[in-house]
Amino acid sequence: MDTGCSVDARQDFRMRISGIVGAVDVPSVEDRPDAQPGVENTDARGDSQYCFDGVVGDMNFFVAIWRLAQGLGITMLNFLRPKITERYPENRGKKVYFERFRAELTMPHDAENRHRCTACGLCEKACPNGTIRVVARKDDDGKRVLDKYLYDVGSCIFCALCVDTCPFGAIEFDNKFEHAVFEREKLVRRLNHTGSSLAPKEKLV
Ligand code: SF4
Ligand code: SF4
Repeated sequence: MDTGCSVDARQDFRMRISGIVGAVDVPSVEDRPDAQPGVENTDARGDSQYCFDGVVGDMNFFVAIWRLAQGLGITMLNFLRPKITERYPENRGKKVYFERFRAELTMPHDAENRHRCTACGLCEKACPNGTIRVVARKDDDGKRVLDKYLYDVGSCIFCALCVDTCPFGAIEFDNKFEHAVFEREKLVRRLNHTGSSLAPKEKLV
């Protein structure tokens, strides 16, 4: 009789549920109520199978209920345990982050709006993602100085190779991790402040 339930499908199903419900009993044909829809069949090993709307139903009902109760018990246990998850964003401002936490690249400036970036471009070369773009210009004395330091936080993988490469400690990571914006262009930040300049040589070493 064609049951619509292939031997391969039944064996696959048996393997999948055996790990969940363990050993199961196959009810004999006589024990099943006549009204229960299904078709008796035999699989490749000669074991009795019971196809129910195309699915093998060789699962003991009480074993299934017991497993369900076990699962619900674990759920209730975790429901009653003290919560250890963060209450974000309610705890915003109170949370203390680890110093080494990398959230966003920044360029520190001193009180006189001076940074330590010489626009050498080493960090740009070290970055594996092309996340940094150092735009330089010539100053009045013909010296190369930083014009724009552009950083795309959207493509940064926070590897800190740029920070490690910089010979002057001009860039560092801070803890501001809230980067959500509606337009991708807003993820590109200019790190050097408007009107900023290079700190004196003695401050760079
Ligand atoms: S942290 Fe890594 S990916 Fe991000 S800007 Fe620096 S070098 Fe590039
Ligand atoms: S941040 Fe450092 S490595 Fe990058 S361009 Fe400036 S001085 Fe050079």
